Amino acid sequence: MQKKILKRVLLAILALIVVLASLSIFAYSRYIYPTGEIMPNLYAVRNYRNRNPMVNFFIKRAGEKYIVFDTGSDSAQTENALQQLGISASDVVAVFLTHSDWDHIGSLDLFYNATLYTGITDFQYARRGRGLPVLPDFQLPDMPHITMLDGDTIELYGRLIQCFHTAGHTSDSVSFLVDSKYLFVGDLLVNPRLAYYNEELQTFYIERMLSMEEVSYVFSGHFGLFRSIRFFRWWWL
Ligand SMILES: [Zn+2]
Repeated sequence: MQKKILKRVLLAILALIVVLASLSIFAYSRYIYPTGEIMPNLYAVRNYRNRNPMVNFFIKRAGEKYIVFDTGSDSAQTENALQQLGISASDVVAVFLTHSDWDHIGSLDLFYNATLYTGITDFQYARRGRGLPVLPDFQLPDMPHITMLDGDTIELYGRLIQCFHTAGHTSDSVSFLVDSKYLFVGDLLVNPRLAYYNEELQTFYIERMLSMEEVSYVFSGHFGLFRSIRFFRWWWL
């Protein structure tokens, strides 16, 4: 009798493991996407460091043009990726940068036809912990540069893009919400113990983004894609 109960308990545990494992596969993917179209008209680009996948950035089609969220870490790798995707850098009309860390602005100079959108005016002097500037010697390429205030919305080729200030990982970190559905958070989710400017701020802004129920997809620099704000919340809490 006891053996039978034990068997049932073991089977139940096994079933639970299978359910949880499949949920985690379908709900979100905690990995850096290979370069490719990950959903209709939305592309991931993967950049490597020492042959290890290191960071994603994302490209969204807007009419006949493209909008880019972050630019990765390496121009040569990004050039190859664009070729693979059949996207010409000259068709990129806007670059939205979530923050000024080197692994998110690496290919900025490729997008010579684009306007740059960032969160704060002193973007290139953003701060990390201990008061250190993220990129002391960085010079922005010669391109139109628009800074967005918290809550600012712009329309580009039929897409509505809203900026949210989400400082914490760095002092200039922002997130961008496209068509109230696609949320690009950059490194909002990076563990504050690894790299942060202000842990309290980061926690505050994560909570704020978690309350945006209308969001369907959350795209991050180093953790792939979360297929709803619910799973983003589940992963974070
Ligand atoms: Zn990063």
